[in-house]
Amino acid sequence: MALNGQMMDRPLTIGSLIDHAARYHGGTEIVSVEADGDVRCSDWAGVAVNACRLASALQRLGIGTGDRVGTLAWNHQRHLEIYFGVSSAGMICHTINPRLFADQLVYIIRHAADRAVFLDRCFVPMIAQLLGELSHVEHWFLLGSIDDECAAVIPGLKSYDELIVGGDPNFSWPDHEETLASSLCYTSGTTGLPKGVLYTHRSTVLHSFAISLPDSLGLSARDSVLPVVPMFHVNAWGVPYAAAMTGARLVMPGPHLDGESLVRLIDSEAVTLALGVPTICYGLLAAAAEMESALTSLERTVVGGSACPPSMMDAFRENHGVEVLHGWGMTEMSPVGTINQLLTKHESLAPADQNSLRHSQGRPIYGVEMKIVDGDGWTLPTDGAAQGDLMVRGPWIAQSYFLSDGVSALVDEWFPTGDVASIDADGYLTIHDRSKDIIKSGGEWISSVTLENIAIAHPDLADAAVIGARHVKWGERPVLIAVARAETAPDPTEVLAIFAGKVAKWQVPDKVLFVEELPRTATGKVRKTSLRETFADALADQDAEARD
Ligand code: AMP
Repeated sequence: MALNGQMMDRPLTIGSLIDHAARYHGGTEIVSVEADGDVRCSDWAGVAVNACRLASALQRLGIGTGDRVGTLAWNHQRHLEIYFGVSSAGMICHTINPRLFADQLVYIIRHAADRAVFLDRCFVPMIAQLLGELSHVEHWFLLGSIDDECAAVIPGLKSYDELIVGGDPNFSWPDHEETLASSLCYTSGTTGLPKGVLYTHRSTVLHSFAISLPDSLGLSARDSVLPVVPMFHVNAWGVPYAAAMTGARLVMPGPHLDGESLVRLIDSEAVTLALGVPTICYGLLAAAAEMESALTSLERTVVGGSACPPSMMDAFRENHGVEVLHGWGMTEMSPVGTINQLLTKHESLAPADQNSLRHSQGRPIYGVEMKIVDGDGWTLPTDGAAQGDLMVRGPWIAQSYFLSDGVSALVDEWFPTGDVASIDADGYLTIHDRSKDIIKSGGEWISSVTLENIAIAHPDLADAAVIGARHVKWGERPVLIAVARAETAPDPTEVLAIFAGKVAKWQVPDKVLFVEELPRTATGKVRKTSLRETFADALADQDAEARD
């Protein structure tokens, strides 16, 4: 006979994370760099009090359980207070990526039906342009104090600081189920519209446990953590929640993500762990060399979001004694799936062999199951050689998208990642390619399909494909491969002008190259793999410039 256990059924909630941080790590500092470069200091107790104030003030405005509250903000203390205050009160914290093109921003804010949006001052001009399409947003709050200039462009704009002053510092979090939605992030899809991933309190707390483990990020109350990865990129990889769970000290960089600012912050605040995408880490390493900083306090750096180049790992280790923890994940996975750390049996290996083991994306953290399958869905061997479509499942992995009418995102109960990978006998994962052809530039995604659709509208182009070419600074940059119409000789600069105003400037291809015809598959699709092979180094001249 099945017998139920007799342990307490206490829900796993975000409120419990901030309560724990306030009670047992209340005096641990939260350092926050403001837009003007000033450094602001609070602590976990201070963040918790402001989160309570915010939650009660939002409730007084009539914002309730399940309502979406948006943020357009860098990593700083107020954003942290919103993370905890909004979710703990039962509302949904929707972090919006301000780097998106205007159309996508409007789509996302409308799709999420955000009732209130908190924004940094630097995003005010952008939002002012879009207000006509965002009339459903009832409250706009500026993160900081309001000046006449801001008030003039966003009518009714209120101040976050004034809002929370009137809030109740002793507010008690309402009781709710751990499966309640807590936060919302949108993916920028390869094709079609962005899709919302709706996390639960339970998924967030379980993910926090898992990323804190020693063979994961190894977070502790003795760490000073610098999340360079923005809080609008999958909740800064879940670090704010895990920091509250472990009582780690947080050092929030604000909008200053250039190498020099980061090196200064690491040195002045004795940061032990930093997290960011490879592009940002390039800047950090270059600045450290220039400033002759040894990055003495830094013990480890988590690099993910796109593949970490081995040369970057070498530079961190050899020049600064910093170990890179290479991680892989995705928005739909909260995001961490794997982290690269060595096993006991690897300790006796020669340093060069250890290093090459560290290049892969690492092993699954507890809670994540992985398999690779062939085109028919058959599971492939985990021998380190076979390559297949990577499928995952686990308690912090999405099963469907926000407002998708219950349509499952799963295939036979597994989430298809869209990545092509191999897995070795110890579970080390190597990502080889994307099954789709998205271009990753500096940690941001650029849809090749969107660019192709625009290019092909040019009167002198008969055919067009966009691929990612290697770039030393940005990882990849888009290159347009085009076929000119008969008897035309289009000027490359004029062709690229067609993108102006249709996509964000950083999404415009760096170059256009003309070919006689595009290679195609038997079913008529452009053979992107072959184009990528041919034009992988099409931007080598820019690489040289970036190095200079
Ligand atoms: P996102 O949802 O924006 O976090 O993007 C997720 C995708 O980024 C994954 O499916 C991978 O294609 C890619 N990605 C993330 N981390 C890595 C990594 N360490 N190496 C290679 N690709 C990565």
